[in-house]
Amino acid sequence: MATEKLFQNDAYLKEMHAEVTAVRMHGGRMQIALDRSVFFPEGGGQPADQGFLDGIKVVDVQEDADSGDIWHILEKEGDFKPGQRVCGRIDWDRRFDHMQMHCGEHILSGRFHELFGVENRGFHMGSDYMTIDMAAPEGRPLTDEQIREAEIASNEIIWENLPVRILRCENREDAERLPLRKLADFVEGDVSVVLIGDEESPADCCACCGTHPLQTGSVGLISVLKAETYKGMTRLTIKAGRFALEEYMLRSDAASALAKKYSCELAELIERDKINDVKNEEIRRELAELRSAIAKKEEEKLREALDSGSGTFEAFTYELQSANDLQAMASRLKDSLVAPLALLSERDCTVVIASPGEPDAGKLVGNFAKLFAGKGGGNRQIARAIFQSSEDAKKFIDQLKEELR
Ligand SMILES: [Zn+2]
Repeated sequence: MATEKLFQNDAYLKEMHAEVTAVRMHGGRMQIALDRSVFFPEGGGQPADQGFLDGIKVVDVQEDADSGDIWHILEKEGDFKPGQRVCGRIDWDRRFDHMQMHCGEHILSGRFHELFGVENRGFHMGSDYMTIDMAAPEGRPLTDEQIREAEIASNEIIWENLPVRILRCENREDAERLPLRKLADFVEGDVSVVLIGDEESPADCCACCGTHPLQTGSVGLISVLKAETYKGMTRLTIKAGRFALEEYMLRSDAASALAKKYSCELAELIERDKINDVKNEEIRRELAELRSAIAKKEEEKLREALDSGSGTFEAFTYELQSANDLQAMASRLKDSLVAPLALLSERDCTVVIASPGEPDAGKLVGNFAKLFAGKGGGNRQIARAIFQSSEDAKKFIDQLKEELR
């Protein structure tokens, strides 16, 4: 037996008494069908209600499209039998969030359609946001200016606090006499049409099975957060109602914290950030120049040390240079070496080995680094070994001194 949809006549109804018409186990959960229900089943992009049925949590609600039964899916089994009277109550905060979001989608879609001839081609409601795929005439992407204009116009519809009415039409032809923005393709038989404002110049008018507030003022706020190109359309991420307010609070807190850091007004924030980027770029360039000058000096010192050295294995320790700096230096020196060389970056606990080719630098690392929990590798002329501590790296170097004596 088809369940009477109490939410269709009164979307503000929160509780009900009803009679159980069927009980079944499905997907490991008990499901209850009722003769009437205040629970909205998932549909038209609006998520299902949740709530309680005789004290047991309702986690999902689904409508059987063939029989019209609305199945209330329970968190755990209860003592339910056909013919029994039960009491149900929906999670109203959750429902109202959905009503605000859903109605926000109507208003925004209506404005885009009226202002720019844009069509809403797809809609998804997430936990606290929605996405709408907007198709503009000739497949042009929406501009930032168009989006801002429609966003402002949508909030003006909220301020006007227009009535939101549900009109029942006996059939598709009746519905088509109304100034519809669109009539879904699948509609057959009875059609519910939501009309926002008056019939002569509606803020929106389209076939819809969802739940809506009584006036647009209840939506509170509509905010477009993101626009991206998607399959030749523009996908908008939007929030409405409580979620839009929470998003603004989050953004306001973040922007205020940054404005405080830069000691500027919110309106100057982006300009200040650009100035900061320029300064950072300058610092990065200066740092690179300094590093390059130091590397040059260190390389000269190392060449001098090698020239006056013993011509056998030697090791040098560097406090500030990175392993990459040392490897670059070793690469430039490797072809002029007469004996292997170890360069230790204390900062990175890494030893770079350079060799004229004999002995094989890669094999030195492969054979001896593991003795001190080191890892690494390389080729005949350049290799590197990474350790947990510079003490371990030094022990590795001592080991090489023994081996290469
Ligand atoms: Zn709707």
